[in-house]
Amino acid sequence: MIVQNFHTILAKVKEKNASLIAVSKNKSCEDILTLYNLGQRDFGENYVQELLQKQAKLPQDIRWHFIGHLQRNKVKNIIPFIYCIQSIDSEKLWLEIEKEAKKNNRKIQVFLQLFIAQESTKYGLSYEEAESLLKQNNKSCAQISGLMGMATLTDNLKKINQEFESLQQFFLTQKAKNPNLKFLSMGMSSDYEMALNHGSNMVRIGSAVFGARTAKTP
Ligand SMILES: *Cc1c(COP(=O)(O)O)cnc(C)c1O
Repeated sequence: MIVQNFHTILAKVKEKNASLIAVSKNKSCEDILTLYNLGQRDFGENYVQELLQKQAKLPQDIRWHFIGHLQRNKVKNIIPFIYCIQSIDSEKLWLEIEKEAKKNNRKIQVFLQLFIAQESTKYGLSYEEAESLLKQNNKSCAQISGLMGMATLTDNLKKINQEFESLQQFFLTQKAKNPNLKFLSMGMSSDYEMALNHGSNMVRIGSAVFGARTAKTP
């Protein structure tokens, strides 16, 4: 846990009127509480099982953001409490979230995950697929209110810059047609400053505030 980094990053994020999601995957409840006690309320998790365990133990006013690949059969487990699902990568997943949210009488923020990286391991939609979903953005419980993207993991800053630039342009074009679209979630520990310079208004930061992740689970 690197409290000094947290304050530094939070100041930079606030200066740009953006918000900070503290990505707590593989980190303990104790670490989460340390940030909670400093006022942080938005936390991001990637795995359903880990999220369920933490959610049960931690303060109920935490806003949980799901940012990992989500299987449709697990949607019902997180719907009762999840605040935002940032990783919609198929229409079927979106419809499942809408169905379960309705059953639970909840409104949930959902973001489309765009595939902008040059890596085969990252999930996400193409711009064409995302555009076609945005045209049907008339759900009652799971309106699309944001876009999320991850840049290629590379030292090539020019490449990362181009990827952020292209997602920013797509976001601005779609936002003009879609007043519900408000959030552009891009930027992680290594590239959040570049993302903020490309209009990101939500950064997802893990290792820079919590310290490097080890492979073991909490
Ligand atoms: C793990 C993760 C992050 C945070 O990564 P760091 O490099 O530790 O800041 C952000 N977004 C997603 C989708 C992640 O899976």
